[in-house]
Amino acid sequence: MSYITTEFILSAAKAIQQTILANENTLESLDREIGDGDHYINMKRGASVVVEMEPELKSLTPDATLNKIGMKLLSTIGGASGPLLASFFMSMAKVLKENGDDSHLKIAAAFAAGVEAIRQRGKADVGEKTMLDVLIPVSQQFTLLAAQQSDIRLICATLITTAEQGMLSTKDLIATKGRAAGLGERAIGHIDPGAKSCQLMIETVCQLVLKNNL
Ligand code: ADP
Ligand code: MG
Repeated sequence: MSYITTEFILSAAKAIQQTILANENTLESLDREIGDGDHYINMKRGASVVVEMEPELKSLTPDATLNKIGMKLLSTIGGASGPLLASFFMSMAKVLKENGDDSHLKIAAAFAAGVEAIRQRGKADVGEKTMLDVLIPVSQQFTLLAAQQSDIRLICATLITTAEQGMLSTKDLIATKGRAAGLGERAIGHIDPGAKSCQLMIETVCQLVLKNNL
């Protein structure tokens, strides 16, 4: 049995696009406070190019779909976040292709490979006030819960909470990677924009899984 379908990926892309659009003010002001203000535009552009790819993606396998999404993001979104998110999708696709997606544990492993690719490309880790403060704990929880054969409802609910905690944790951190690193203590008190957008995307996808009873 295969858990991930191309149809699901395409509906997740549309749901993510709606979430990004609905959070314009939040994402834009966070990056204006500790970055250069373009994070909302980058995310919006990324979401819309993926949604527009539907005709060329819909007949592909899920791993090929994720790989194409990664390649497209690499060539279309600028900023630090574009290549980082692109490497997530390409690495996740590679592991799905190799291992399949017939268990939650295999999906968790593919997600972990995507996060690891961001970690290596960005040369960053937990505690540096980036998207990894959301992605690493979420990936760890996902792997743990999947290994325990937890119910998908529990997995989704826990990942939503873990993403939220990770996003909030960036508020009190000093940035040591990315644009905000130049701000020193002035970055304290502001949530990292990339952490916020990753938290929103994780919440959106988990809610879609819950809604569709997957
Ligand atoms: P830019 O920083 O080039 O303007 P964006 O505004 O789109 O690009 O994205 C900024 C986000 O990218 C940050 O909020 C942070 O979460 C993430 N980021 C930046 N540098 C790194 C890095 N080295 N590792 C992981 N994430 C990073
Ligand atoms: Mg920016």
